[in-house]
Amino acid sequence: MQAVKYARASSVEEAINLLREGGDTARPLAGGTDVIVQARERTRDISLFVDIKHIPELIGIEHSADGLTIGAATPCYQIYGDEQIQSDYPILVDSCSLIGGTAIQGRASLGGNLCNSSPAADGIPSLIVLEAQVEIAGPNGRRTVAVEDFCTAPGRNVLAAGEFVTKLSFPKPAGGSGARFLRFIPRNEMDIAVTNAATQLRLNGDGSVAWARVSIGAVAPTPLLVADAAAALVGQPLSEQTIAAAADASRAAANPITDMRGSIRQRVHLAGVLTERTIRQAAERAA
Ligand SMILES: Cc1cc2nc3c(=O)[nH]c(=O)nc-3n(C[C@H](O)[C@H](O)[C@H](O)COP(=O)(O)OP(=O)(O)OC[C@H]3O[C@@H](n4cnc5c(N)ncnc54)[C@H](O)[C@@H]3O)c2cc1C
Repeated sequence: MQAVKYARASSVEEAINLLREGGDTARPLAGGTDVIVQARERTRDISLFVDIKHIPELIGIEHSADGLTIGAATPCYQIYGDEQIQSDYPILVDSCSLIGGTAIQGRASLGGNLCNSSPAADGIPSLIVLEAQVEIAGPNGRRTVAVEDFCTAPGRNVLAAGEFVTKLSFPKPAGGSGARFLRFIPRNEMDIAVTNAATQLRLNGDGSVAWARVSIGAVAPTPLLVADAAAALVGQPLSEQTIAAAADASRAAANPITDMRGSIRQRVHLAGVLTERTIRQAAERAA
């Protein structure tokens, strides 16, 4: 483990100043379940942790008539333990209850999952299909980015020096909506996804698809929003044919690598299988 200084921020402004003073090797610390491992293994050059999880704005869950806001450092167990999230956004329960095990979920945050920007992150596809907006604070004020535009490469994202994520905001799903996240791992738990996928869709009264979003992960340098998969569904009845067309679109969008967890062939195949399953299960939830 490299020697790392620790500073605890109690406000957004204090965190901005600490990150600015710390320079390139200062890193925000939320749950620490990625970044402490990276410091220990020296995979990142880190001289200062700026602990952001005691900033009141960054912890907590707020429901309103327009939707949901989650503080970036809110731990997973609080997210999947929230009754309104369980009823209105069950896909967040899918993701948050899969990240690590119980001990990890006591600390790990969705903001940390997003900012670690792993192509295989289990939180990001769900954020993408829920149309999350990412609020960022930094030396030049605040800005908002659509989550699908946040990650730019493995471990990289749009955050500039001194910036960090304060909250994630989600529109309220319209009536008739359902969403589902699934991943494939070779073990039952505590592993990195070989491939993962999420779908949110809205059904019309006649069973046709009014609106859809599909996202796949671990098949490209960043989690992908697959517009062609949604286009294969929207305006169509939810038939074997349209589901197969959406799965084909996900396979076509996948551009994975072969590594110790899976081959290109397996990942492309899984992108189709998981797209199909998340569509079916999202439709069950919608109904
Ligand atoms: C045993 C184990 C199992 C795991 N299993 C899974 C799994 O199944 N699926 C999965 O997706 N992940 C898994 N992870 C990885 C990790 O737990 C998740 O990515 C988690 O969500 C990270 O959140 P955190 O709050 O701990 O982030 P941290 O480790 O605190 O931070 C992660 C990165 O994001 C930055 N950061 C954190 N918060 C912010 C912010 N608000 N603004 C800007 N930058 C920020 C940090 O500087 C760091 O670079 C596992 C990790 C371990 C150790």
